[in-house]
Amino acid sequence: MRKINLIVLHCSATRETQDYTPEQLERDHKARGFVRAGYNYYIRRNGQIISMRPLEQVPAHVKGYNRNSIGICYEGGLDAAGNPEDTRTDGQRESLKILLKLLKIRFPMSRICGHRDLGARKACPCFNAEEEYAGL
Ligand SMILES: [Zn+2]
Repeated sequence: MRKINLIVLHCSATRETQDYTPEQLERDHKARGFVRAGYNYYIRRNGQIISMRPLEQVPAHVKGYNRNSIGICYEGGLDAAGNPEDTRTDGQRESLKILLKLLKIRFPMSRICGHRDLGARKACPCFNAEEEYAGL
């Protein structure tokens, strides 16, 4: 297993009123030249956690930090009008917390943060992940 000390959260930047399936995600990432979806995990609006890329494979999700990180993306992140917003459903919040707890057990030294905390010039994941999960 590669060395992991960073867990980064993303949103799919799709509207909360719109479905964005794992197949669409995979297709869009392939169109950008990736071999498969860039994230390790994808969390649907109903809370379903989908493994997109095995953990031992380096994800492609945040420039300069891929090698030592895990990428998790939730479906949503934009309100109905297309503005950045924390659109996580109860199911997504629950699944995120469970997944992060398990990953912290496996990789205890990991920092949990959002894409935007690593210098991204966008709102992703549209909530303060570092603060929210500081206690995990
Ligand atoms: Zn992101």
